[in-house]
Amino acid sequence: MYDPKSLKAEEFIDHAEIEETLAYADAHKHDRELIGQIIEKAKELKGLSHREASVLLACEEDDLNEKVCQLAEQIKLDFYGNRIVMFAPLYLSNYCVNGCLYCPYHAKNKTIPRKKLTQEEVRAEVIALQDMGHKRLAIEAGEDPVNNPIEYILECIRTIYSIHHKNGDIRRVNVNIAATTVENYRKLKEAGIGTYILFQETYHKESYEHLHPTGPKHNYAYHTEAMDRAMEGGIDDVGLGVLFGLELYRYEFAGLLMHAEHLEAVHGVGPHTISVPRVKHADDIDPEAFDNSISDETFEKIIACIRVAVPYTGMIISTRESEEVRAKALRLGISQISGGSRTSVGGYTEEERPHDTEQFDVSDQRTLDEVVNWLMKDGFIPSFCTACYREGRTGDRFMQLCKSRQILNCCHPNALMTLQEYLEDYAAPETKEIGEKLIAAELKKIPNEKVQNITIERLAKIKNGERDFRF
Ligand code: SAM
Repeated sequence: MYDPKSLKAEEFIDHAEIEETLAYADAHKHDRELIGQIIEKAKELKGLSHREASVLLACEEDDLNEKVCQLAEQIKLDFYGNRIVMFAPLYLSNYCVNGCLYCPYHAKNKTIPRKKLTQEEVRAEVIALQDMGHKRLAIEAGEDPVNNPIEYILECIRTIYSIHHKNGDIRRVNVNIAATTVENYRKLKEAGIGTYILFQETYHKESYEHLHPTGPKHNYAYHTEAMDRAMEGGIDDVGLGVLFGLELYRYEFAGLLMHAEHLEAVHGVGPHTISVPRVKHADDIDPEAFDNSISDETFEKIIACIRVAVPYTGMIISTRESEEVRAKALRLGISQISGGSRTSVGGYTEEERPHDTEQFDVSDQRTLDEVVNWLMKDGFIPSFCTACYREGRTGDRFMQLCKSRQILNCCHPNALMTLQEYLEDYAAPETKEIGEKLIAAELKKIPNEKVQNITIERLAKIKNGERDFRF
């Protein structure tokens, strides 16, 4: 029985409700009146239900689809402005006891070397990342209670936060590790993590069990209920995602939004972010083996529909996607991207991109500086801001900031100040020149005069060597 407030996976992600939703959406894919009403509702910026959003995703009326994309762009601009938050993944260990069919780290893969960073190696990787200009990391690891127990993850987090190389600083560590216990989530919270990210992979229980034949990840309920345990453990910024390509995308889309509705219903706050990874080639993984791959057009439509359905949720895209796809996705609602990523264990300290332990092939292989330069040329502000959680603006407090439209007086100056730091410390001369002009123009957009003046003062101080200002 479908119940968004239930704590049981099969009740808040109810298969029958998803099937009915998909049938309803299909029956209304040409219903111009209903689709028009849903678009009008989305304009109120209060979000859409999974059913309403599923109708938009199914819509086969070209002009209305165009309207949804335009609205997604508008909502993106209203809430997130032209800022794009930058981050990098850091792979700690590829030891894994699970049998995920799509992941090269699966336990039976004997062709990849297994590697786990020592604290000295973590230090070297972090210095390399700081030297690129990164301030925000997402740590990644396989699931292996012997090789990567929670104590190892916590030790790595402590090491990461302790390193201050030149003007470098990692100010926010997000964590993408397997579903775990409330007690372990509490430890992660105490270690000062930002967002806890866990991809559902697929919301379709039967497929989930088939795709995860062995290991602890096989347990659908334990995995699906992980965010509730994370919130119980005190983590109030959680990041959802599905791995597109494994199951029918319309099923995943409805499940994802039902999960968001569930978190809102039970904990009073929806997901902080939603990621949209697609299955990629990697070592012994052939994406063609999964027959639900989606075209770039469908992928873009999904992003636009998520944007209008959950306007306050950040959206993340990784370097799994090419420059071209990322350019379109940024306009439709993505607010965070990775740059200069290496998806192998120990990859940042190697001169050449290593492939031996890569989790997936990277499509966008540009350096961070190239991505920053590209974003700015396209009118975006690359932001290295990590202020919110450091100021305690997590969970519903962050949502309040969004809803009260204070982003231009808070996130916008923070983005400009952290970009200035990047320009001073890491940018190539051409990037610096473009950035200086962009900051001068963007300063004028800060509505509150006092905040604008403080920002101008702080930018001058940054040029004089001071660091880490924030609102
Ligand atoms: N081991 C943890 C877990 O099971 O959730 C951490 C996550 S893993 C290091 C990061 C994510 O990469 C997975 O959740 C999965 O969605 C994604 N992934 C795995 N194989 C992939 C592939 N071949 N292509 C693209 N993404 C992949």
